[in-house]
Amino acid sequence: MGAVETEAIVLRTYNLAEADKIVVCLTRCCGVVRGVANGARRLKSRFGAALEPFTFINLGYYEKDGRELVSIKQAEIERSYFSLTRTAEMVGWMAYLSELVIDFAPPHEPNKNLFRLVSKSLEAVADSPDQAPAIKRYFEIWLLKLSGFMPETRACTSCRKYFDATERSYTNTGNKLQCSACSHGRGIEMSAGTRHLLRVVLTHTPQEFAHQWPDFEEAARTEAGNLARHLIESALERRPRVSEGFLTQFGVQTIM
Ligand SMILES: [Zn+2]
Repeated sequence: MGAVETEAIVLRTYNLAEADKIVVCLTRCCGVVRGVANGARRLKSRFGAALEPFTFINLGYYEKDGRELVSIKQAEIERSYFSLTRTAEMVGWMAYLSELVIDFAPPHEPNKNLFRLVSKSLEAVADSPDQAPAIKRYFEIWLLKLSGFMPETRACTSCRKYFDATERSYTNTGNKLQCSACSHGRGIEMSAGTRHLLRVVLTHTPQEFAHQWPDFEEAARTEAGNLARHLIESALERRPRVSEGFLTQFGVQTIM
């Protein structure tokens, strides 16, 4: 409790009263933090443009016992990816990313790996916006892994046998991966190519994965996408939503 200083990534902002903002940040030290920035919408605000979405900042805030909202005291820009939000496609991509972080990360729970994932994914997409689809997949798979929802892909959960390079496997209703014999062919099918794609994600940087993306079979890319969507929806017990309120900040009505 008390004063905190940390690196943070602004995920989303809401207007509050006449001149204030509520800012949702992913912080390096303390996970997802929601704070009030008094006067942030005034023309000569001391925060300047630091509290725009997808800005990396040095954040100073004050927290009080028992209050979920912290009080933001200072924010300095380290680097900003706000300029990426010029196209509707990219707004959609970034809104989706921030939505998932807010949904998956429990508030005030430090997770350095998650901070690193978000930061590396944004960096990668800023370098190569055309690789956004591959980086989106990379981000989803890692987010599921860090949250404990990605099944083990090397061996069958039931008989512990390692999958060979060509055999098919099946995700059962508990989202565990089984061989054909143990699953009796029931569940969501996962090919060897898809298991390979998942392993490449988990052992490479987003740039390296995006570089290899065109070399994966179309079927494996589609299957990995379907699997990620299925696991995200079963973890959230609903479809991910991308907030309309968020999008209208950029004058965008619909996305994707
Ligand atoms: Zn088995």
